[in-house]
Amino acid sequence: MPPLGLITIAAMLPDTWNKRVVDMNVEPLHQSDIHWADYVFISAMNIQMASAKRVLELCANADVKTVAGGPLFTQRPNDFPEIDTLILNEAEITLPLFLEDIAKGRKPLKVYGTNEYADLTQSPVPQFSLLAKKAYAYMSIQISRGCPFSCDFCEITTLLGHKVRVKTTKQILDELDVLYQQKWKGSVFIVDDNFIGNKKYVKEELLPAMKGWMQSHGNPFIFTAEASIDLADDAETLQLMVDTGFKSVFIGIETPEEESLRDCNKVQNRNRDLLESVRQIQQAGLWVSGGFIVGFDKDSSSVFHRQVEFIQESGIVSAMVGLLNAPKNTKLYKRLANEGRIIHDSSGNNTDLSLNFVPKMKQSELIDGYNRIIQDIYSVKPYYQRIRRLLRHYKPQSVHPARININALKGFLKSIWIIGIWERGRLEYWKLLFWTFRMRPRSMVDAIEFSIYGYHFRKVFKL
Ligand code: SF4
Repeated sequence: MPPLGLITIAAMLPDTWNKRVVDMNVEPLHQSDIHWADYVFISAMNIQMASAKRVLELCANADVKTVAGGPLFTQRPNDFPEIDTLILNEAEITLPLFLEDIAKGRKPLKVYGTNEYADLTQSPVPQFSLLAKKAYAYMSIQISRGCPFSCDFCEITTLLGHKVRVKTTKQILDELDVLYQQKWKGSVFIVDDNFIGNKKYVKEELLPAMKGWMQSHGNPFIFTAEASIDLADDAETLQLMVDTGFKSVFIGIETPEEESLRDCNKVQNRNRDLLESVRQIQQAGLWVSGGFIVGFDKDSSSVFHRQVEFIQESGIVSAMVGLLNAPKNTKLYKRLANEGRIIHDSSGNNTDLSLNFVPKMKQSELIDGYNRIIQDIYSVKPYYQRIRRLLRHYKPQSVHPARININALKGFLKSIWIIGIWERGRLEYWKLLFWTFRMRPRSMVDAIEFSIYGYHFRKVFKL
């Protein structure tokens, strides 16, 4: 996915400025890029701390001024004394102050910050033209910021507040227009932390407008979003999402342990049959991928087994399981700090087995249990079982034309060679393809895609 923050900033800079984006996720940053610039603007997440520090060092060596903003710098401004200017919080408010100082020939301040939240109707269409689009599997758009919920481990609400602020429908359609004009076809990820944060707007205004736009443009995009589990309760919105071209949705399930859900204040997941909610979404025609966490104070020793059971039973093929982390400025961090249990700042990586606090459970038991979950859900057999489980429950949509192209065909042939011939679990691959062909022929493309994801997961987790 592209760096949506940086290209949104780029659109706010004066037209007369020459701009380049270097996304270090997909291309190297060359010394010549730094020398080319009068200013280097940097944005990063917590997990990119070390990389951001290296970039700052390169800029200092080249004697080029640096301007930084985004989640990492807004959360930890004091950790970066070497930066020339910090543009904190939301740039729709703070960036114009910096630009005005420059325009008037004043020396920029060290820090521009605010306690207010931005009016998203003032946010420009991101400058998608700066991206080398071939490098990306998805384009991204943002519709809203803020989340009405208060999960205690989450830093989103500290950064963006509880009030859900939305762009206008016209802004969203303008963004789709730009992507379309720039010949993007295929996946578009809606990066909002909770797509249904403002349900009424999404259902009554946004989705009908997006649906109309998609129909009048030949349905060029496949949408994916993140949403809270209460999406399952609204059959009408689910149907509208499917009709608009949504293919999948990521949901923070976190844990099947009711006590732990209560402990972390995940109210929207409590007092409901989570499995049934996932099924309802799948039966409407959306894949569900999910986030899961272990390490809550209330987790019992059976939590690892229960997580595996839930993931297998639900047919959530892409299950993002992480160890609980306490990012700074969250309610969880404050509580643990009061209890003297914080060890160090969170690295932002919840899969590298590093804990930034002292857990209630014995640390070795927690880490062993976490590793067991990964082993039990991503090993060959349970993984393929889970795909079958999904395909049994899921209402398949017709195959989107953007999913059938020369690259997809190459991917399929490569999957036959690597997964179907060379890999140890090849038998399961063929069993899935034959089973799907016989039982769920409309889901053949899904089965191939999931097989390829499985290969990726086995590589990542070294299984
Ligand atoms: S629902 Fe998601 S974005 Fe909202 S507070 Fe909870 S974890 Fe954060």
